[in-house]
Amino acid sequence: MEITSIWDTFLKKVQNNLAPMLYEAWFAETKLITLNDNKATVLVPMLIHKKHLKENYNTLIETIFNEVTGSNFIFEYLTEEEVEQKKDQKLFFSEVDNTEIFQSNLNPKYLFENFVVGDSNKFAKTTAIAVAEKPGIMYNPLFIYSNSGLGKTHLMHAIGNYIIQNSNKRVLYVTSEQFVNDFIELYRKNKSDNNFNEVENFKKKYRDIDVLMIDDIQYLEIANKTQQEFFNTFNELHTNNKQIIISSDRSPDDLKQLEDRLRTRFTWGLMVDIMPPNFDLRLSIIDKKIESHGLSSSFPQEVKEYIASNCIGDIRKLEGAITRVVAYATMMSGSDITLNLATEALKDYFGNCISSKNNIEQVQILVANLYNISVDDLKGKRRVTSIAVPRQIAMYICRTVFNEPLAKIGLLFGGKDHTTVIHSVEKIKKELKKNLELEKEINKVIKDLK
Ligand code: ADP
Ligand code: MG
Repeated sequence: MEITSIWDTFLKKVQNNLAPMLYEAWFAETKLITLNDNKATVLVPMLIHKKHLKENYNTLIETIFNEVTGSNFIFEYLTEEEVEQKKDQKLFFSEVDNTEIFQSNLNPKYLFENFVVGDSNKFAKTTAIAVAEKPGIMYNPLFIYSNSGLGKTHLMHAIGNYIIQNSNKRVLYVTSEQFVNDFIELYRKNKSDNNFNEVENFKKKYRDIDVLMIDDIQYLEIANKTQQEFFNTFNELHTNNKQIIISSDRSPDDLKQLEDRLRTRFTWGLMVDIMPPNFDLRLSIIDKKIESHGLSSSFPQEVKEYIASNCIGDIRKLEGAITRVVAYATMMSGSDITLNLATEALKDYFGNCISSKNNIEQVQILVANLYNISVDDLKGKRRVTSIAVPRQIAMYICRTVFNEPLAKIGLLFGGKDHTTVIHSVEKIKKELKKNLELEKEINKVIKDLK
């Protein structure tokens, strides 16, 4: 990207963050004149701008500029006069407008430090750290898959941010849609005017790098021509020991529309999946989020537990619930956050949460409701009949109706062994042969689920 367009993008974002009067006063007449290594030089109209921008807007400028460029820069402000002086002293080599800087597309917010771990994502985070420490060497490609909202994108950015902070490797993060768009654009231009430069630019962008991350690869399934190009890109990078990181909502095996040769390649390195967070992890994530907003002291434990027990499966929804509660409290002119307030704020919210959730957790909620016990009872170890039987029924439904893998059922029922699951399923099967009442109950749950 050229520096003029970088600065235009930057200014637009600043404009969205400032009152018009302030924007006009401090930013409208600024111009980025060079970007070298990690230094950005900005031309300002008057001396007063230098001091004011440094003292009052430094954080805003650095944060937004980082969002735009994916890298951290130190800012220097110069007036026209100072630029002339530097030129005279030959201290200043103007590269106005033609400097190409490399854009990683990384979001600096997503770091390993703020990725909370539990049983369901520990392996994914650990391998991500291993790849970040030794890109191109350990696991190539790294293939991360899970349902939506469980942290794939977060982990990818964390890897990228770690790499750019600790080395001078070039990292490129794109969604598969972006890749497809770039390719289609290239193809279109190429057809119309045989533009050799465009091909070179495309190749440079995707091959002249050390780490390529493609998010949500499942969208490549519908783009046949692009699959071929991706295949070439993949091979070129892989042969040169460049790290490739891919995420998807499914395992390579389940990306049925993808060419076989691509699917096979995805399994060459390491595949890791992320499971839905259990109650404890959800609670820790809530703690972390409210801590980062400086709200720890205003969130009572029961409100956290209320959110954690109702918002299952998708961490994005969990964040949404927190934001809603905070917004609601602010709207009620700064009321304290109480369980009542949270229930009110979230009354229409959890419905969507549950319906978009995975089968196992839905079964757990319905069965727990039906038998008047809690989901945590179902996941726990207590063996009293009033809990053990519903637990077996829930496992039975997960297995026979939804065909969920034994290991996954075990994990989501509080980390039980798969043999426990088999045992429960068999027990209910046997019981069903002689107990009509039970059959009715189970059918009711199944009907509610559907
Ligand atoms: P995905 O790409 O799998 O759909 P994201 O990475 O976009 O999911 O995660 C959704 C949201 O949840 C993001 O805001 C992310 O920061 C947050 N999130 C996911 N997992 C964690 C975690 N383990 N700790 C903290 N935040 C998380
Ligand atoms: Mg994502």
